[in-house]
Amino acid sequence: MALQYNKTPITEITAPETRQAGINLLIKREDLNHPFVSGNKWWKLKYNLEAAQRQDHKTPLTFGGAYSNHIYATAAAAHELDLKSIGIIRGEETLPLNATLTFAKSKGMRLHYVSREAYRSKTEPSFIESLQNKFGDFYLIPEGGTNPLAVKGVAEFAQSLKAEASFDYLCLPVGTGGTMAGMIVGLDKQQQVIGISALKDGTFLTDEIKSHLKNFSDPVYGNWHIETSYHHGGYAKTNPQLFAFMDEMNASYNLPLDPVYTAKLMWGVLDMIAKGKFRRGSTVLVLHTGGLQGLQGFR
Ligand SMILES: *Cc1c(COP(=O)(O)O)cnc(C)c1O
Repeated sequence: MALQYNKTPITEITAPETRQAGINLLIKREDLNHPFVSGNKWWKLKYNLEAAQRQDHKTPLTFGGAYSNHIYATAAAAHELDLKSIGIIRGEETLPLNATLTFAKSKGMRLHYVSREAYRSKTEPSFIESLQNKFGDFYLIPEGGTNPLAVKGVAEFAQSLKAEASFDYLCLPVGTGGTMAGMIVGLDKQQQVIGISALKDGTFLTDEIKSHLKNFSDPVYGNWHIETSYHHGGYAKTNPQLFAFMDEMNASYNLPLDPVYTAKLMWGVLDMIAKGKFRRGSTVLVLHTGGLQGLQGFR
């Protein structure tokens, strides 16, 4: 059994900035690929959940904050595949549960809260062992879903994208860097991959991505970089200008964005276009990675 997948469109955005700079701006609406397992999370989960199923239906266990797109997607995907799931949530339980966790619970995810301090040790063997003592055998998926199987899934998506449209630049938002690593693996070396960091001080992400790439054959990838100045104050930090920008994108281009990743992405791309960072006459493809479920927590 495999996850449901809906084909997604590529649409063109003609903005004053694109006309002036002579740029063909396209957006791949991968947020529309599944009603709940949306965007990049679908591709990151694909081979992980296949592996969990193959290992005699082991229960996926993963980590996230109370508004996590990854927790939301994992709960929905596991439910669709008749797997149980466990979510280790950072911080104390707050009642009533927010929309993200209410949804995860409704999909049968068992929620377990750990202190922020304990959460920080989530990759340490002793912490994993304590989880095994508590929950028994599980299939571990790291925070954000990033591991070699996630990169493999995104690389497969990148290959299909390459066949679907021709473009010179691919722009996407970056959290852990797993999705960006997969795009770098799957695209051609003549295509530039530009990541917009959703985190403050995103320079460390370059090394993170290099380490995700190490697991894949070709070690020489010089066709990518991370833009670190579009985080708007840090991860999940917002301001009225960002919300006004989201409203404008929605009204002008029928383009819904989320404040954590995709609004900062679009903001950054339009700013880079205005600043002449892309070659005149080239095609820039923006990847809408989803995340719209999180909007409920902001408005
Ligand atoms: C999780 C997420 C990202 C970040 O993906 P990484 O692979 O962790 O870099 C980007 N956009 C959206 C909408 C997400 O939910």
